Amino acid sequence: MDHLSELYQAVILDHNRRPRNFGKLPEANRVATGDNPSCGDHFTVYLRLTDDRIEKVAFDGAGCAISKAAASLMTVSLMGKSVAEAENLFREFHHLVTTGEADEENLSDMAAFAGVSQFPARIKCATLAWHAALNAARGTGDKATTEEPV
Ligand code: ZN
Repeated sequence: MDHLSELYQAVILDHNRRPRNFGKLPEANRVATGDNPSCGDHFTVYLRLTDDRIEKVAFDGAGCAISKAAASLMTVSLMGKSVAEAENLFREFHHLVTTGEADEENLSDMAAFAGVSQFPARIKCATLAWHAALNAARGTGDKATTEEPV
């Protein structure tokens, strides 16, 4: 393991141990759940959406280290973003975890998930909270499940 992947590993471990924005969000006006039965990850994502902008985001639930760290980092990166910006960020993140390549600079700490591309089953873990968050942001309220096509 080279130095950079050790650093990335540390980012994931840190967010797994101390997830950011973990817990219910009383002022949320959008909520969606995500379920990844193949691993047992299940999360609820809470959004406070005002004029198409994500003012606050939080999550709770339980899952493996990858899913929890990805959800935690997602909440940090979505704070203050518009729904369109959130969709773009997810496209970049999805590209990263499926190919291992970051094609944009603004993924910052999320680049820690590049290694997920070597473990296809883990892609579902890494993207679960994103699916839930985008469902919540779109207002569809659908339950996100990794068992359906993206
Ligand atoms: Zn998982």
